[in-house]
Amino acid sequence: MHIASVGISKLCFCLSLALSGLLLLLLPCLRTPARPLVLPQPKAQFRSASSWTYRTPSQTAAEPPLRRKDSGASSTAHHRHEPLEMEDVFIAVKTTRKYHKSRLELLIQTWVSQAKRQTYIFTDGEDRDLQLKTGINLINTNCSAAHTRQALCCKMSVEYDKFIESQKKWFCHVDDDNYLLLPSLLLLLSSYHHSQDVYLGRPSLDHPIEASERVKSNGLTSVQFWFATGGAGFCISRGLALKMSPWASLGNFISTAEKIRLPDDCTIGYIIEALLEVKLSHTPLFHSHLENLRKLLPETVLDQVTLSYGGFENRRNVVSVAGRFSLIEDPTRFKTVHCLLYPDTDCVQNPDWCPKP
Ligand code: UDP
Ligand code: MN
Repeated sequence: MHIASVGISKLCFCLSLALSGLLLLLLPCLRTPARPLVLPQPKAQFRSASSWTYRTPSQTAAEPPLRRKDSGASSTAHHRHEPLEMEDVFIAVKTTRKYHKSRLELLIQTWVSQAKRQTYIFTDGEDRDLQLKTGINLINTNCSAAHTRQALCCKMSVEYDKFIESQKKWFCHVDDDNYLLLPSLLLLLSSYHHSQDVYLGRPSLDHPIEASERVKSNGLTSVQFWFATGGAGFCISRGLALKMSPWASLGNFISTAEKIRLPDDCTIGYIIEALLEVKLSHTPLFHSHLENLRKLLPETVLDQVTLSYGGFENRRNVVSVAGRFSLIEDPTRFKTVHCLLYPDTDCVQNPDWCPKP
């Protein structure tokens, strides 16, 4: 009896050994496969049939977009890359009451009409007629209508707070003399992940700006940083925008701007580059009227992210793009660009808008 029970225990022991061995062998097969690092690659994209949704052709791309090594891509970027949609972008347009007619109406007739729900116009006066007539999101910031540093920073501060409130993935700012090419914007943003630290735009200088930063001891210290010029537009990922909060949210933007006594776009650069140590990703796809817009090759105009116009009085500074609108009918060239991008859309809504061949 005793011998038999020893035999059974031995058998059990051997069986459990064999089972454990088998389990050990099977372990690698049972383990769920490691999730591939899915990040987009900037160039290899295609436009999907559902308008303005971009996917990477392969969902297994392993490399983040080409960027400077120190651009601070955060580790949270290891998510499955979802297609980016217009709904994910918060577009802020800065304007002032006196430009509602002369500048804003052209934007509403053109690109804003294609992204009405995602676009927020930040102004400094009421305009119920325009709001009712067009259905745009018009936000009266109650900031001063003056073209001062303080007034501009006041508007940017409201733009920032509204973006944070919106829960959208990307914050893009443009001026009221910018044409925003929505397909190119989506294509560019979909190269990145909104949880990464991304600050995209074009500097107006060819060197970092040097500012005097007020420090606690009432002294001044020199600080250098790049900033994207607001007149060409810029974009910030939600991940980075959230990190800006201590210096940008709930009126803090205005006190941060006071520390360096520079305008709104410089203050954005100061917070991102100097305080958060995240680099501006310089992109040549954004354009202000500080550059010579006539130099842009006509065949590349529709690939840009923003355009602008300037200098009607003396030397006209607009993009060279041929279309059915003459320079008299379309001095900014925005209508021409719009009809090249959307030949049908406006024709359906307003049969006479885009001239027929
Ligand atoms: N702007 C403003 N308040 C003003 C004047 C201008 O908010 O009193 C806005 C204007 O609507 C535009 C931006 O500031 O979005 C830049 O203005 P503008 O194009 O006239 O100047 P620049 O591009 O030469 O700086
Ligand atoms: Mn301007």
